[in-house]
Amino acid sequence: MDYPTTPALADRYTHLLKPQWDQIHNPQSTTGLFDGMEEGAAKYSSPTSGIAKKLRFVIGKDKYADNDSYYSIYNNKEIEVKLEIADTSLKFDLTKIKWKLAGKEIPSKDKMPNVLSFKINATNLPKRTNNLLVLDSLGKKLIRLKIRAYYAPIVRFEEGSGFNGEYFFDKGYEFTALSSPTYYDTIHVGKNKETYFAPVLGLNKGQSATIKVIINGFTDNVLNDKDFKIVFKPELTGKITINGLDSLVLDATGLDKLNDIDIKALNYINRDVLAPMSIGIYIASTREKVGLLKYYCAEKVTKTIKLIYTKFKDESNFPSYITPTGLSQFLNNNSLNQFFLNIIVDSVHFTSKRYKVATMNGWSNTQIIDSLNYEKFGVINGATPAGYSIKDDYFYITNLVRPGSIPGTYLGGFHNVKRPGGVQVRYITTPYNESAEELTAHELGHWLGLPHTFEKNAQVPVIVEPTQGRTKDNFMDYNVKRKKWFKIQLLNYIRN
Ligand SMILES: [Zn+2]
Repeated sequence: MDYPTTPALADRYTHLLKPQWDQIHNPQSTTGLFDGMEEGAAKYSSPTSGIAKKLRFVIGKDKYADNDSYYSIYNNKEIEVKLEIADTSLKFDLTKIKWKLAGKEIPSKDKMPNVLSFKINATNLPKRTNNLLVLDSLGKKLIRLKIRAYYAPIVRFEEGSGFNGEYFFDKGYEFTALSSPTYYDTIHVGKNKETYFAPVLGLNKGQSATIKVIINGFTDNVLNDKDFKIVFKPELTGKITINGLDSLVLDATGLDKLNDIDIKALNYINRDVLAPMSIGIYIASTREKVGLLKYYCAEKVTKTIKLIYTKFKDESNFPSYITPTGLSQFLNNNSLNQFFLNIIVDSVHFTSKRYKVATMNGWSNTQIIDSLNYEKFGVINGATPAGYSIKDDYFYITNLVRPGSIPGTYLGGFHNVKRPGGVQVRYITTPYNESAEELTAHELGHWLGLPHTFEKNAQVPVIVEPTQGRTKDNFMDYNVKRKKWFKIQLLNYIRN
């Protein structure tokens, strides 16, 4: 049957649709004739017999029949939709048609009434499913294409339950709470373009780690888009593999099923300078970034710490607040893996023949450490003293209580950058239950060149968080239970 083109016949045509209309509105009905009801499909309904069957939409090389779906990511790209007559027996004037997209009538392409061009964006396609209708000159629906759009899924990472990396996995989120996100790699992702702080993974050469992949904003529509591809691509090739490949390319179904990725370090990415590389996650067709992971694989630097158990001339015993084994385990297992440092701790005994505890208790930290250094190593300013290597560090363990000897206060360390010493003064139980190891890690941080989190220096020219205690747990903060470093500290410490 040809489509009626006169008003009278058109009315009759509408009338014929009435039973169909009732069927759609009958809650008992399970005919499923019309899916994609979200835009009030009923009012555009028509049997797929008749003219609709003889028309086709054409997008690129693909053809679409009445009620078919076209899937696309919101990519702001122009698409061209053409209406063509599939059945040559149909005598129909394509110059008289009108186009309606998402409820709005829009003009066809210049001088081509059967061609429509529009951009795939949220203005044109405000819903996940939008009707593209072709109407006759009287505004009656001829054929419909459902345009199903979706936003790019956001890909995030978490340390998997089976994470066995030697080095840290830093989720990145902690920095958002701090005053300055300077130096942190961020991208803007998702519909709302929120700031995404890249998590950081560190691996030793030859090591693998399994990371959990979390996909947000993954809608049904993307699963039907055969053109969708997502790419996990490291900045440098030959340094790592992702699931055994140089880069991982997945379609929507593959991404939907992805729980973990396995990252294996094939080689170091740097030796002298700790610099990460990025693993970008982006949509193949648009290059839109939807996730980011930073990755380190640096050769481990071995550093030596010598604990100097110091007995003053008015004492009979050496102090024993900390042991070489306890300290090396703490630094290697709990903190310094993040710095790619292999810490070796040993100890020596040193009896001060010159000083008494009673005398030094009244001194400043600087006076104490300089005096002990001078006594043990001789001249220290301007020349490397005998027995001292700048690549090692020395911590004096003493029975001195500095400063102020106030019960409950816990400042027990002092350190100058790249100078021998670091005085591990008497360990006092504090409200934070800080251990001697934690205090030593703090002093070691100064040795590496790190300032307090609320200060800055030449190596770390940014204040991480101006208020003391706000980092909650950073080694270089005060008034916290110290247990970790931040990435900014990793990026700026002095390695050699
Ligand atoms: Zn300090």
